Amino acid sequence: MSDIIQLLPDSVANQIAAGEVVQRPSSAVKELMENAIDAGASHIKLLVKDAGKALIQVIDNGKGMSATDARLSFERHATSKIKQVADIFTIHTMGFRGEALASVAAIAQVELKTRRAEDELGTRIEIEGSVVQSQDFCQASVGTTVVVKNLFYNVPARRNFLKSNPIELKHIIEEFQRLALAHPDIAFDMQQDGEYKFQLPASNLKIRMVQLFGKGTAERIAEIAEQTDLIAISGFIGMPAWAKKTRGEQYFFVNKRFIKDAYLNHAVVSAYQGLLAPDTFPAYVLNITIDPAMIDVNVHPTKTEIKFENEKVIYAILRATVKRSLGVHNITPSIDFNSDADFKNYRPLGHNEVPEAPKIRFNPEYNPFAATQQQPQLNIRQQYNSANWETVFDKLVPTASIEQQSAFPLDETTVDKPALSNANPFQLHSQWVVAAVKSGLLVINQQAAHERILYEKFLQHLANNQGYSQQLLFPQTLTLTAANCELVEELLPELIALGFELRKFGTTTFVIEGIPVEIADAEAVELIETLLENVNQNASITKFDKRDGLAKTLARRAAIKPGKVLELAEMQNLIDELFSCEMPTLALNGEKTLTIITATELLKKIGK
Ligand code: ADP
Ligand code: MG
Repeated sequence: MSDIIQLLPDSVANQIAAGEVVQRPSSAVKELMENAIDAGASHIKLLVKDAGKALIQVIDNGKGMSATDARLSFERHATSKIKQVADIFTIHTMGFRGEALASVAAIAQVELKTRRAEDELGTRIEIEGSVVQSQDFCQASVGTTVVVKNLFYNVPARRNFLKSNPIELKHIIEEFQRLALAHPDIAFDMQQDGEYKFQLPASNLKIRMVQLFGKGTAERIAEIAEQTDLIAISGFIGMPAWAKKTRGEQYFFVNKRFIKDAYLNHAVVSAYQGLLAPDTFPAYVLNITIDPAMIDVNVHPTKTEIKFENEKVIYAILRATVKRSLGVHNITPSIDFNSDADFKNYRPLGHNEVPEAPKIRFNPEYNPFAATQQQPQLNIRQQYNSANWETVFDKLVPTASIEQQSAFPLDETTVDKPALSNANPFQLHSQWVVAAVKSGLLVINQQAAHERILYEKFLQHLANNQGYSQQLLFPQTLTLTAANCELVEELLPELIALGFELRKFGTTTFVIEGIPVEIADAEAVELIETLLENVNQNASITKFDKRDGLAKTLARRAAIKPGKVLELAEMQNLIDELFSCEMPTLALNGEKTLTIITATELLKKIGK
């Protein structure tokens, strides 16, 4: 038998390696923009079409390349930035692996145009699937333009794997914003399908933050600056009152490189101890400058993770610095964590004042089945109507216990009364609803049950577009990051189906005019932020998952909580609606909404 090992042709090797560097359009955007920054550009323009799937173009006014370098730049491991291994440890540029252009050229149709100031003519190269199609001299302004068309045109599996345009665009905007924040001294523009998304003149960090996060930002951030032997820290941290339900505006840059670091994030957040409302995240944009020899940026191919040599010391310095800054700015705890709309109502708590618990309204009259005439879709659920809940329930109880029931002298009248109106529930410890049934004692967890009821209801609204809206007396303003703005636009059909009424107002602002009737309180801004945070945290965003996530989050948010005292009618209604559910016994967390203490169990405990 002949030998079977072969060396892969370069084009195949490049395509495989490309997968590591370029996962999606935003990765190509990042690499190309980083190259422009490394080339010393003072103005960088990004153009995308079809969320980068059809076109990504980066235009810079940096130092450009010679004809030879232009051709070499597409070779794997071709880089002007390091010459030997030791150079990695003193790296001051964004790139150094020499893989980006080779990778992009392996999986797209690429055109490069470049000219150095000292050259009269520029160079134009076309390359497609790693194969050079043409190279000539051309007229060009100083700097470099890279055009990337039809990303993954030759890797259908990857192309099909790309997410919807709003999602891919959200990733691109994220990369763009990170680079724009790390380099406020560079002017950046971004156009999407011919329209400007951003036009950011060169400036300082504070103004860049205002450009990206909105007008009110300047008043809500405190400057921070610290210089030690080991590191320098500079940047801005958000006032606690500006903390949001979404994690969006948290940025660490180490030597101008965006990184994600849970440990350092913890250092910052823990400095806010006692100043933040639960489940809110403070904003920050922090630059750490450190001797490149003290870090290893080589741990991750896309370089958003970093290893520090003196992690613990850095943690301590960071935490202390943030703490001091919060102290200097005399920032005291506040109770109002909403954005603009509610800011004017802000009032610090009085000395002996106890914060008011959130009020939850539960309408005992509310019956989703009352409106069946207008909503014929509900008819299937009518099979499980309120009149036969006990029958439904008994099907759910293990047969063993039902058989055992004959041993227990049950009150015949209870057994014979299937109708809900005659059930006689009571509430235990303001968190359980207890009722007698044929086989024993039914104990319902009121919160879990209500979550289940609402969850199924919201899923139905999503499927049938039938959510009802209650108008807000005072419409609320929702100001979002550009990335979250895209997400809201993508989710808009779902949000409307659920009963939200949203109107776009300016580039990153929505006015919330109505919310689903099922939501009793009117913290609409915070509610939508919670929804977005939830969707953002769930990586898999198929339509089904998305809907499911929305319904779950909303249900959890709106459900009654332990401690809520229920009227008799409310308890009856709860039981009624629970047993009209498709899966009445299953709680959203996978546990049970209810249990039964069977006659047998009771007999064991107190039988004679
Ligand atoms: P790396 O950035 O890791 O060196 P790349 O594949 O991104 O690798 O780029 C290869 C080389 O091409 C760079 O080292 C640089 O010399 C040159 N280059 C790439 N983009 C530009 C640009 N926009 N302006 C000038 N030179 C560039
Ligand atoms: Mg590079």
